[in-house]
Amino acid sequence: MKEIRMVDLAGQYEKIKQEIDSAIQGVINATSFVKGPEVALFEKELAAWNNSKHCISCANGTDALQIALMALDLKPGDEVITADFTFIATVEAIALLGLTPVLADVIPGTFNIDPESVKKAITPKTKAIIPVHLFGQSADMDSILEIAAKNNLFIIEDLAQAIGTEYTFKDSSVKKTGTIGHIGCTSFFPSKNLGCFGDGGAIFTNDDTLAAKLRSVVNHGMTVRYYHDHVGVNSRLDGIQAALLSVKLKYLNNYISDRQRAAAFYDEKFKNIGGLIIPERTSNSTHTFHQYTLRIAPEKRDAMIEHLKKHGVPAMVYYPVPLHLQKAYQSARYKEGDFPVTEKLCKSVFSLPMHTELDEEQLTFITDTVITAIRSL
Ligand SMILES: *Cc1c(COP(=O)(O)O)cnc(C)c1O
Repeated sequence: MKEIRMVDLAGQYEKIKQEIDSAIQGVINATSFVKGPEVALFEKELAAWNNSKHCISCANGTDALQIALMALDLKPGDEVITADFTFIATVEAIALLGLTPVLADVIPGTFNIDPESVKKAITPKTKAIIPVHLFGQSADMDSILEIAAKNNLFIIEDLAQAIGTEYTFKDSSVKKTGTIGHIGCTSFFPSKNLGCFGDGGAIFTNDDTLAAKLRSVVNHGMTVRYYHDHVGVNSRLDGIQAALLSVKLKYLNNYISDRQRAAAFYDEKFKNIGGLIIPERTSNSTHTFHQYTLRIAPEKRDAMIEHLKKHGVPAMVYYPVPLHLQKAYQSARYKEGDFPVTEKLCKSVFSLPMHTELDEEQLTFITDTVITAIRSL
């Protein structure tokens, strides 16, 4: 059996090596390292793939969030609501701009932001909500849109873990994540569902005015060369990354179904095993499975992970600490006990290997090892 890894980027590359290598060589031959035609082409292809009017590439997903917030002309002290259970980048972008991060609890089954908790967090200073489509499943966007409309708020979607996820609204219309709010932000970090060979990110919007502002912010606040209309940043996707992402984009639907196939295998094996709770699927979102995350009794989690590691099955905890209890983000506003769902999830979740290269032999070994462990714990 092949060694089991959390992600298998080497195996994925091997299958399309020639195409990738020639795309990279093409950029080197043309020396189109920065702002070349490959970047413009990839933006166009990705916009079309995601049914978004505009796609603006940038250096990484964290920058994408910061640039999105910069484009909204918020003032220091303005409040932005996001989930307590997410990767730190979401809240970091808010804090860096002198905006006030305001947290909301999540729904235990889906791990996504709880609209009821969002409602409670709204104050006259609230200007935006950043729902995170965590682990590959969309947040409850019907409810978030309703809250935003009622309170005149911007919505920035963080789809770093959910590119290609489709959300079905109450009226049966379907949209891809990143095209539901005003702006969508994603990441091409190597292990993401569409990953490059370094860092990269992109911003989606259907709004022409916002698109122009975003394009200017990523490029030093400039629209006409050497005339700077506002404070911007330098955040670019380079040509080599764009060229290889164009190749990988052609396979993204296959990559997503590979992940869904692995998740279906896990679900089938675990659904009737006492002591394990499989990830809930909501009826209004597809799941692109950036992570396959189980819940277990907190007192058994460490022993489970230990057992798996001993048998060659890697497992990870995403995420062990709620944002409101992170040292850097502690504020007088919050104390332990404020977000009970997130606090409990941080003690009970663990994620299994999830990538495009998992074969049946590996999946069988992983599920057998987990089931043996849970029966002996
Ligand atoms: C990966 C990730 C980001 C940041 O992406 P980078 O490209 O690593 O900066 C932001 N939000 C979430 C939810 C992520 O998973």
